[in-house]
Amino acid sequence: TEANNADATETYTVATDNNFVPFEFMNEETGEMEGFDIDLIKAIAEEAGFEINIESMKFDGVVSGMQSGRFDIGIAGMTITEERKETIDFSDPYYDAGLMIAVSEDNNEIESEADLAGKKVGTRSGTTSEQYIKDNHPDAELVTFPGIVEAYMDLESGRLDAVMYDVPNVQYYVANDAAGLKTVGEILQGEQYGIAFPQDSELVEDVNTALQTLIDNGTYDDIYEEWFGE
Ligand code: GLN
Repeated sequence: TEANNADATETYTVATDNNFVPFEFMNEETGEMEGFDIDLIKAIAEEAGFEINIESMKFDGVVSGMQSGRFDIGIAGMTITEERKETIDFSDPYYDAGLMIAVSEDNNEIESEADLAGKKVGTRSGTTSEQYIKDNHPDAELVTFPGIVEAYMDLESGRLDAVMYDVPNVQYYVANDAAGLKTVGEILQGEQYGIAFPQDSELVEDVNTALQTLIDNGTYDDIYEEWFGE
């Protein structure tokens, strides 16, 4: 019966990153996590008919939590990569991203990634940016941080020459939160975000179906507009 189904509503734990604007971050006033990913996973849960419990942590904790099966779902602006696909399942892509460089507003030396040799370049550990710098800029001085905000702060104070990170995060931070930073150069590597699951999770199909419904019925666009609209 319907009553029985309602009683059987499952609650899943959702792991998210503790600070990746505007996808997930703590609203200091309410003490709640908010952002594009948070709204999206709430809408998916409602559409698919399950409850969620959101837990925030460092980004690499989301990745390892998926690998160990500690959490049911991970949503953290996580880039779908071939390497991660060996140990984690992903939903269909839900956001097109890429990598970009930020420097101090008065820096005229770094105009693109071609100028990174010998420079102190900050990013966050365990991410696609760290891998990209290792692979493509072995002559840059790579500095990694557990949180990307710490890298931006070191850039603002002049301890770093550049930060490389996800385009939407760099652009949002530079526009809304930064003191005297600018973006330079092109998008460096096309990436797509996917919702993550422990391998062989039965939730993948339900989440993909719900995601497609939200894209078709305009809910996805409403959420997008709220966080990325002009
Ligand atoms: N997209 C990046 C990655 O997957 C990092 C995202 C984040 O910091 N939450 O490596």
